[in-house]
Amino acid sequence: MPKTISNFIDGEVASSKSSRSSPIYNPATGEQSGTLGFSSAEEVRSAVAAAQKAFPAWANTPPLRRARILNRFLRIIEDRIDELAEVITAEHGKVLSDAKGEIQRGMEVVEFATGAPQLLKGEVTENVGTRVDSHSLRQPLGVIAGITPFNFPAMVPMWMFPVALACGNTFVLKPSERDPSAALVLAQWLKEAGLPDGVFNVVHGDKEAVDAILHDPDVVAISFVGSTPIARYIYQTATSNGKRCQALGGAKNHMIVMPDADMDQAVDALMGAAYGSAGERCMAISVAVPIGNTTADRLIEKLAPKVRALNIGPGTDPDAEMGPLVTKQHLEKVRNYIDTGADEGAQLVVDGRDFRRQGYERGYFIGGTLFDRVTTGMKIYREEIFGPVLAVARANSYDEAAEMVNSHEFGNGTAIFTRDGDAAREFAHKIQVGMVGINVPIPVPMAFHSFGGWKASLFGDHQMHGPEGVRFYTKLKTITTRWPTGIRAGAEFVMPTMD
Ligand code: NAD
Repeated sequence: MPKTISNFIDGEVASSKSSRSSPIYNPATGEQSGTLGFSSAEEVRSAVAAAQKAFPAWANTPPLRRARILNRFLRIIEDRIDELAEVITAEHGKVLSDAKGEIQRGMEVVEFATGAPQLLKGEVTENVGTRVDSHSLRQPLGVIAGITPFNFPAMVPMWMFPVALACGNTFVLKPSERDPSAALVLAQWLKEAGLPDGVFNVVHGDKEAVDAILHDPDVVAISFVGSTPIARYIYQTATSNGKRCQALGGAKNHMIVMPDADMDQAVDALMGAAYGSAGERCMAISVAVPIGNTTADRLIEKLAPKVRALNIGPGTDPDAEMGPLVTKQHLEKVRNYIDTGADEGAQLVVDGRDFRRQGYERGYFIGGTLFDRVTTGMKIYREEIFGPVLAVARANSYDEAAEMVNSHEFGNGTAIFTRDGDAAREFAHKIQVGMVGINVPIPVPMAFHSFGGWKASLFGDHQMHGPEGVRFYTKLKTITTRWPTGIRAGAEFVMPTMD
């Protein structure tokens, strides 16, 4: 019997009254596991109203007390990580160890956010003028909305709300409609940790719910993560409605393999980075760029057998390295890209289209796929596929490879594999990408640094979590103070200076 997945508003689980709904499937079996009501604009309004009502008291709660609640939340997740991982795997499809990995990365943001008292410290200057002092503060904004994608149903929301809440804001989360259950679990655990009602709310839905958020005057800022066309739409609409917005978009991450690279290390790195989580990661490597034909031939020779040997199965199989794709529609989309690549003339070295897993014939499985001799004009090079499909695009020189990276529409992550310090330094210094790895294939910054790309991978001025997260979720106030015992200079009509 499929379960009903509910909203969480003002501290209560609330079934959606909307007439619109969508089935939720287990991607490994293709069986329906749940039904998700798509919230109406009125339901979004009630979640925002609850958050607005809770804001003044939460904003006035001392940061240390807010941090203690987050600390209790952290302990709850730690104790029940297996339970949450199972919820993620059942709707997303990723293997359980990978689901735990994403929770772990999310917990690191909570750990960062428990430093709220330190993070919110302002600056003081004594004697900015004679007997005049200045100090600055960071104050919360109000109701923040988070709109998140399917590929990290726990981690991406956790990039956002721990920092937003630690800074004294209240929050409305609109998770992906494809794997919505993890958000509800997090909401219930926050309540259990002592979070006051209304401080954190979840509304499920699709464009209708998102548009209601974008136009609600009480939502002051929006954090979005998802595909580039939607990120652009969210950023443009939110900012034209006077809201602060950070909108992270899609990616096409290149890994340059220099002739001097440790080839075994590079191949292992590519296997995890291209095929882990079935390639459904915004930091997945989807293009490998070996320099010179000798390097390319060595790479393909070592890579192809490993791609063929990938252990693909349901996420609950402890031996599986890669699970199914998230939905049947996404499976069709990835298959179409493979058809297109073959039609465009790329060399299909490993073809995953016919993969079948016995006992899971109705699951959304596809095998690891490897293309060689992909060129920059091809659709499979230009567009994000978001599946286990690695394109090898050969370059004749480092300069040609760097030019490929720099000319691409996206600028989320990139990596270089080399033993040459000069090449690595040149790469780190000049490449037009937000997150760079040197012999590190998925350079996801830790929670105390900030996450985000450049170009069409991020719209807005702030990356997520770390110091940029604190800046995004607060506004700066600077206070200048003079007490009456100071020197009286009489009325001044010129532009005041502090001399
Ligand atoms: P998506 O853009 O389809 O959906 C993201 C969110 O937007 C969901 O909550 C969805 O309900 C909402 N949405 C979808 N269509 C909408 C519309 N027309 N109007 C308003 N809202 C809409 O993304 P997805 O398929 O869930 O996630 C995969 C994408 O997310 C990939 O492109 C991936 O690269 C990207 N992503 C980026 C990062 C990053 O940090 N840059 C991280 C994770 C995922």
